[in-house]
Amino acid sequence: MPELPEVEVVRRGLESHVVGRGITRVEVTGARTARRQPGGPTEIVDRLRGRVVTGAQRRGKYLWLTFDGDHTAGADCLLVHLGMSGQMLVTTADAPPVRHMHARAVLDDGNELRFVDQRTFGGWTVVPLAEALDGTGVLLPASAAHVAADPFEPGFDALATARAIRRRDTEIKRLLLDQTVVSGIGNIYADEALWRSGIHGRRRAGALTLTAVAGVLDHARSVMSDALDAGGTSFDALYVNVNGASGYFDRSLDVYGRAGEPCSRCGTAVVREDFMNRGSHFCPVCQVPPRRSGARAGGRSVPGRSLPGRSVR
Ligand SMILES: [Zn+2]
Repeated sequence: MPELPEVEVVRRGLESHVVGRGITRVEVTGARTARRQPGGPTEIVDRLRGRVVTGAQRRGKYLWLTFDGDHTAGADCLLVHLGMSGQMLVTTADAPPVRHMHARAVLDDGNELRFVDQRTFGGWTVVPLAEALDGTGVLLPASAAHVAADPFEPGFDALATARAIRRRDTEIKRLLLDQTVVSGIGNIYADEALWRSGIHGRRRAGALTLTAVAGVLDHARSVMSDALDAGGTSFDALYVNVNGASGYFDRSLDVYGRAGEPCSRCGTAVVREDFMNRGSHFCPVCQVPPRRSGARAGGRSVPGRSLPGRSVR
């Protein structure tokens, strides 16, 4: 799955190359691409044709285009589901067709926006904008109105989010992944943020201090910001792309996908364990696991450098 930094790179590409352009023609050929649209491919074509793209927006891992300068509740937007392998490519309209292309929008500058998706978990949906359920008044695609603010948003309140997390009596990592609590943090960056914080993902959120939980959110933002800096510049000007987790952002990862390799802080081998049907990666010394019974982790001290956010206990 693409994570927030990858989606933000796609958003920036769309902002540079698609915003300001009119849509002259639309084709949706993929059988699954329009499956979330009640009226199917025809409805997508009818509601996009003739529109002028005036915004490329994102909250968490949700990405959408807005049209005709109409950013009010009820106005149409195009919600782009990248799924596992979705790509939004901008090419010249006479470029040769590519495999796995399921939709395209011809633009009035001689280019076209292509939706390419090998594994077909993604798709396009035209939906009205609606107010976010979090009461902030932010407008989101109606089908994503439940999505909470992400740590990059100007209105993101880390302390309020940390309080909401602490009120829930469950594992901190489970809450970091809950898009109705905080959006945009996926499995990779949850592991990275917890490692930077020196907190094991199975620790109960209610047993951590407010400072510690706010620290995890801070680290989530900074690790994603670092990833964006590492990968956000490696794009060909006309190629707006997302390849999911295994691509160009790997360099910036300290624990994710590094089971058996030494922790870059203390040298202990990184461990992978199953969690929520995925893998969690952590350093067993820097991030002392809680006992499986659910009892609190003990107060073992950590050798080596002091850890940010280690005031937690
Ligand atoms: Zn370590």
